[in-house]
Amino acid sequence: MRRTTTPGAARGNGPGPEGWRSGLREPLPTRVEGLPALPAAYGETLDAGLEALGETLPPGVRTRLDDHVRLLLAWNAAINLTAIDEPAAVAREHVLDSLAALPLLRAAGADRLLDLGSGGGFPGLPLAVALPAHRALLIDSTAKKTRFLATVTAALGLDPGVAVAAARAEALARDPRHRGRWPVVVARAVAPLAELVELGLPLLARGGLLLAWKRVPLEAELARAVAALRALGGGPPQLEPVAVAGLEDHRLVRIVRVGPVPAGFPRDPAARRRRPW
Ligand code: SAH
Repeated sequence: MRRTTTPGAARGNGPGPEGWRSGLREPLPTRVEGLPALPAAYGETLDAGLEALGETLPPGVRTRLDDHVRLLLAWNAAINLTAIDEPAAVAREHVLDSLAALPLLRAAGADRLLDLGSGGGFPGLPLAVALPAHRALLIDSTAKKTRFLATVTAALGLDPGVAVAAARAEALARDPRHRGRWPVVVARAVAPLAELVELGLPLLARGGLLLAWKRVPLEAELARAVAALRALGGGPPQLEPVAVAGLEDHRLVRIVRVGPVPAGFPRDPAARRRRPW
């Protein structure tokens, strides 16, 4: 790990033992205080989208959603967490897109969720912030991303209810503390549906819900997932539209685990490449 990018590292006042080189990179912020406020366009987009989703969020929830975004934008220049960095677009494409699942999660009675491949925290972090119990595990295979996620959960006061792990879904699915244990697995922009079924269903309890963020057209991807669904005990996928302006082509794909998951799944990435679905 490069010292100059360690969160919370002391900000030097002049050349240290390493000379000026050590001062070239600002330490990444670990607190929201002192970060730029979000522009009005962000708040207006978020408000309009929440209204379209029929959601009214308490002020504390709203502040945490905003603080996540402020930290995301502050870290993005250094570690490339999102290609979308215009604040109103972040409100729509990241925050509202994530929160579109709230009604489904409430209807499912979900009290905790696993976000598989959370990246900058979407969709798991806004959902964990908005759900009353604030219980989630955000995993990502990339350590620099989980370093960001851990910084955010600490800064928002969400730990330990919202935990972060630098782990691959394949490894988690072999761990008896996680295999077959989760009521909900969410994933956005991680893998084609067939592969998500293989990664996500082994982590779900029977009756649990896999929720995948996708866009139309989806026919070919759904067709390619049929064999994986059959092999891993997945029920028929159900598609839910997203009511937010600008997200008309988005769909939430709901898959319930209805059957047993054979012990050999998920296969490791090399085996999946050799024998794709
Ligand atoms: N869900 C976020 C990030 C999408 S990028 C969003 O929608 O913005 C995909 C992320 O999944 C990457 O950060 C990558 O590191 C992670 N990832 C891919 N395969 C994974 C696996 N098998 N286990 C855990 N994380 C994985």
